[in-house]
Amino acid sequence: MRFYQQPFPIAVAPKWKTGGPSFYYLVVTMSENCLFCKIIKGEIPSKKIYEDDDVFAFYDIAPQAPVHFLVVPKRHIATIMDMMPEDCELVGKMLYRAQIIAKELGIEESGARFVFNCKADAGQTVFHIHQHVLGGQVMGWPPFPAK
Ligand code: AMP
Ligand code: ZN
Repeated sequence: MRFYQQPFPIAVAPKWKTGGPSFYYLVVTMSENCLFCKIIKGEIPSKKIYEDDDVFAFYDIAPQAPVHFLVVPKRHIATIMDMMPEDCELVGKMLYRAQIIAKELGIEESGARFVFNCKADAGQTVFHIHQHVLGGQVMGWPPFPAK
């Protein structure tokens, strides 16, 4: 599995005289090295579908279904486990935008899967939360091989 960004670059962070790296330093470093922050800023090209002040949507570069796009918040949040109470409205906007785009792409009646992968067991490879929307075909369940 390829990791697009190390989730916690603590090992490379400088030590301040007073102790370990500041929280501010870690947040800035994490978002500066983040693939999806770069896509949002236009530093890396993407097939953009939608953008507003809070949310950005684009097609997945390696689609796993006939319809496969990603919805991300513009604010850098590394994983769903890092979500805070003040992020609830933002994540709600992501889900609502995913629904609107899914309808526009013609999968309202057939349905879709709205997925957040979180950390290692779920196979998260980009550590900026993103909602996968997959559709256009019948999908199996569970979405992983039986043991
Ligand atoms: P996850 O494995 O849940 O972290 O999902 C990351 C997704 O980002 C994968 O489905 C990748 O195909 C997708 N991805 C990686 N790089 C890009 C890119 N430059 N543009 C669009 N999608 C990307
Ligand atoms: Zn980011």
